[in-house]
Amino acid sequence: ARVTRFAPSPTGFVHIGGIYTAMIAQDVAHRSGGSFFVRVEDTDKAREVEDSAAQFARAFGYFGIEPDEGDPDGPYGPYLQSDRERIYHTYVRELLRNDKAFLAFDTVEELTALTESQRAAKAQPGYYGRWAPWRNAGADDVQAKLEANVPFVVRFRAPDFTGARSVFTDLIRGRIEQDDNRNNFVLLKSSDRDPWLPTYHLAHVVDDHLMRVNPVIRGEEWMSSVPVHHQLFDALGFDRIDYAHVAPLLKQEGKSKRKLSKRKDPEASVDFYLEAGYPRDAVLYYLRGLANGRLAELPIAEALDAELRLEDMNLAGALVDTPKLEHIAKDVIGGLSAREVRESVLAWAKEHDAEFAGVLQADPEYAERVFDVERSGSENVRKDLAKWADARDAYGFLFPQLFELVTDLADERLGKIQPELVRLIAADLVEQYREDRDRDAWFAQIRELAVRHGYAPGPAELKAEPERYRGPLRVVANVVRVALTGSSKSPDLWEVALVLGADEVRRRLAALAG
Ligand code: ATP
Ligand code: GLU
Repeated sequence: ARVTRFAPSPTGFVHIGGIYTAMIAQDVAHRSGGSFFVRVEDTDKAREVEDSAAQFARAFGYFGIEPDEGDPDGPYGPYLQSDRERIYHTYVRELLRNDKAFLAFDTVEELTALTESQRAAKAQPGYYGRWAPWRNAGADDVQAKLEANVPFVVRFRAPDFTGARSVFTDLIRGRIEQDDNRNNFVLLKSSDRDPWLPTYHLAHVVDDHLMRVNPVIRGEEWMSSVPVHHQLFDALGFDRIDYAHVAPLLKQEGKSKRKLSKRKDPEASVDFYLEAGYPRDAVLYYLRGLANGRLAELPIAEALDAELRLEDMNLAGALVDTPKLEHIAKDVIGGLSAREVRESVLAWAKEHDAEFAGVLQADPEYAERVFDVERSGSENVRKDLAKWADARDAYGFLFPQLFELVTDLADERLGKIQPELVRLIAADLVEQYREDRDRDAWFAQIRELAVRHGYAPGPAELKAEPERYRGPLRVVANVVRVALTGSSKSPDLWEVALVLGADEVRRRLAALAG
């Protein structure tokens, strides 16, 4: 059984790449009968944003990320790094005792000077060699600084550099060979801070060891830190943990691809998906297809159920492409029942459109009939709903509370037709509208009405005797359409009339009839 985790930093931004990685980690754990948990990496107090936890909770809820453990008092807790301060200190003390770490009292100015002298010497950046003044400092110097209360950091004493390469087998990428680490990196950040927190390197190694994680599944940007982490595992006497580095999500920019970035791409944020209201299954199916192209070829239900094997993961980095997601979302919505659509739209509207939510809740049965029109209509222009945010535009007119009556006889939507005729047509229809007719009778009635008011039954007649007709039949049909739906484009008019019911049909027509 494998234990995996997702380790977000609470910076107030939930990256879709994070959800992507978490989804993979959760799948790997659960497929093996193991567990998956979330550990909050709040060691950078300067970047922390207060309501981050709530934002993550919301994203997790939407995308089905469900940690198996999280009780702070449980055997593997706490799961918040700032609550683990004493655990890190214990291990740092151990490293200091074994001479595998040292105190460094460099000031910011001194460190800047070091960096500059390194740059001048065209040397690799880092705290090492002759640019590591405290690595071999005498005990007296250290004592003097401590007595003077000079703040310090604790640095790792990197093993003497031999030039050997660091090699490991990544569970996704296979054999990786890179330069070994010679940097005496920081383990505990400045001692004058409260809480006195570790760097990512130390916290990762200690926590993932204690929390019995294996493998660590994380973004590829951490690949180059593996030599650092290996040295630290070794120094602490811990077994090394396997790594699986997930290729980043990419964005097409002109002819080239680059990392999907939170500063440049709105779709990097989970808010983009939550606000638009793409159905969860559509996004998950889409993300699974990005992780493993083979899954994108399976039917949705099958792909959602398929195993995300690390060894089959996409190595190149996958391209995020919103139109493709929209396409999938339409398929997903197309497969839902009217009730499921109503429930999903309602859930979305509760967060984003209180008025719409209220209307949907006022009469759930009516709402369900509305969402059914989409399925059965023959000329349906809204069969391609891709996200819940579009539902109000597509269906709102069917709810009397949301519909704005068309009252202006010269309204542009009515097309080129004399206002007085609009009034007459609407008045005739109010008079004659009968609910017990069928679709054919209803359209026959509109046709008859059109002829009565001098509109041709069809373009052929119009062409043959232009002086006899005011225009084609569809001009009149359009008046009815606009009166009932507020738009020249709508689903099947008879379907619309059936959903609205006779009273509402008459109310809408009467608004034009005056
Ligand atoms: P920037 O816009 O500054 O490059 P970023 O988009 O890389 O920022 P970070 O705050 O650096 O965002 O990363 C937050 C988390 O999201 C990290 O865990 C990182 O692994 C993950 N992440 C960031 N970009 C991607 C990406 N393109 N694909 C997958 N995961 C990503
Ligand atoms: N907090 C790190 C990040 O958000 C975690 C990386 C990891 O998964 O180890 O990038």
